Amino acid sequence: MDFSFDPAQEAFLAEVRRFATDVVAPRAAAIDATGEFPGDLVTAAAAIGLTGVTLPTAVGGGARPYVTYATALESVSAASATLAVILSVTNSLVAEPVSEFGTPEQKDLWLGRLATGRALGAFALSEAQAGSDAGNQQTTARLDDRGYVLLGRKTWVANAAVADVAIVFAATQPGARGRGISAFLVPLDTPGISREPSPDSLGVRGLGCMDLVFNDVRVGTDALLGETGKGFRIAMRALEGGRVAIAAQALGGGNAALEEAVNYAKRREAFGQPIGNFQAIQFQLADLATDLEAARMLMWNAADARDRASHARFEAAMAKLQASEAAHRAADRAMQILASEGYRRGSTIERLFRDVRAAEIYQGTSEVQRMIIAAEILK
Ligand SMILES: Cc1cc2nc3c(=O)[nH]c(=O)nc-3n(C[C@H](O)[C@H](O)[C@H](O)COP(=O)(O)OP(=O)(O)OC[C@H]3O[C@@H](n4cnc5c(N)ncnc54)[C@H](O)[C@@H]3O)c2cc1C
Repeated sequence: MDFSFDPAQEAFLAEVRRFATDVVAPRAAAIDATGEFPGDLVTAAAAIGLTGVTLPTAVGGGARPYVTYATALESVSAASATLAVILSVTNSLVAEPVSEFGTPEQKDLWLGRLATGRALGAFALSEAQAGSDAGNQQTTARLDDRGYVLLGRKTWVANAAVADVAIVFAATQPGARGRGISAFLVPLDTPGISREPSPDSLGVRGLGCMDLVFNDVRVGTDALLGETGKGFRIAMRALEGGRVAIAAQALGGGNAALEEAVNYAKRREAFGQPIGNFQAIQFQLADLATDLEAARMLMWNAADARDRASHARFEAAMAKLQASEAAHRAADRAMQILASEGYRRGSTIERLFRDVRAAEIYQGTSEVQRMIIAAEILK
């Protein structure tokens, strides 16, 4: 398999790396400290093509391969995991499903705006009792002669603080679990929707996570995304791309942690020499570099499958599982190598540690990824 980039993709990735290093990285600590949504950085990211990355050029997208998209997010995440996750949600979890499942009218209304960053998307699947068990939707969408009425509460919805539109999943046939869920494309200024604070997040702070409360929210039948009862399938398809993007987020953080450890190992002296001279340190660094490289290969493989195949469920699950756990190991070992220098509030490794940890939880926990992989290999 050839994952080399052509000159156009390479130029885009070089611009993203510059943006990440020069513009995003200097802001990362403040985003983490304040937890504020970095709206101006999202606008700047959109200006260099980091929204609508894979969408067709006809709607203002970049029509880029998923491998390019994932690699770009990895660079952004090495500077700020928060910005990478914000972009991954609007790209993979909103714009792409609208492009794949939307009606011509929904595409006309939203795709151009999502592609250019003039609108930001959110993905509202999780509820208090529907995290890993996402089929257990308690939010309902009742059909009457004027359309649907949404009632329920979504939690931990990233981007929701500022998003213009959300894909909202709700039971149109309560009790039927995955077979009775439909997806709706809902402007967030629709009357009856309120945004309430989600719990304060340990890491990836600044995602603008909110609970979305739907209090008899009336939407037309034209808000339905895809067919009625097929919403769970849409969610799972969106999460295939989303998991590739979260693999990229984790990998960016994991590599940043490894870099911290390498730099420290070169400059910190103990027993009269740099600690990097000790084989105990060298072997840890070697293992981490190998672990992360394996994650990158799985990420590229899943990204390639997302482009080429009708589904990439298995590949995306493996990529997310490996990348998030490798990044966790990298942050943990880097913390050990930096020792007291790392274990202080405000150290870079402390932030990286909290940021990469989330990748094992959202868009399906590591256990959920293992369930997907096991189901495939036991088939
Ligand atoms: C920072 C952040 C951002 C988020 N953003 C979004 C968002 O934008 N949109 C959205 O919809 N959601 C979002 N979420 C929610 C996230 O997707 C859920 O937290 C996640 O799916 C896990 O659900 P849960 O927290 O309810 O855990 P639970 O599902 O209650 O799981 C608890 C534990 O049990 C394990 N477990 C559950 N079932 C099984 C099983 N069958 N076998 C083995 N182990 C099992 C889990 O792996 C986990 O370890 C976000 C969460 C966070 C933390």
